[in-house]
Amino acid sequence: MDKGLISNPKDLERMTHELVSLERRISSLEDDEIEVMEKLEEAQAELDRLSAESRTARERGMAVTALRDEKATEIETELAAVAAERAPTVDGLPADLLALYDKLRAAKGGVGAAALRARACSGCQLTLDPAERAVIKAAPSDEVIRCAECQRILVRTSESGL
Ligand SMILES: [Zn+2]
Repeated sequence: MDKGLISNPKDLERMTHELVSLERRISSLEDDEIEVMEKLEEAQAELDRLSAESRTARERGMAVTALRDEKATEIETELAAVAAERAPTVDGLPADLLALYDKLRAAKGGVGAAALRARACSGCQLTLDPAERAVIKAAPSDEVIRCAECQRILVRTSESGL
């Protein structure tokens, strides 16, 4: 044992065994390391893919939002133009008549008043019977007449056929 040499064959055999066992352990750990590295690579690739997907979705969301805002601005502009166009027309109309018209317009698909044309309501196409026509004919010109069928304001004209 002096000079650090192993003279006992049993010790040598034990150490050789230990060495082989350690080499095997190292090899096994290296395999594990490779496996872990591969999994890490896969996970990184998946993360990259998901990040790209998320970025695309975010960009698409931003584009849709921008489009929506653009459309909203267009609609607001159009609405303001229509309101400006409407103002002189409704100017001087009684507030209650205007309120009734707006309520009907909202409920009747945008048409709150309809012309009484050729004895029929041009809103719902119902033909008025003679009794109804007589009542309307007798009514003062400033009285608000409503269609019995669709409730719209009936506008009397020279073509009403009364
Ligand atoms: Zn009607």
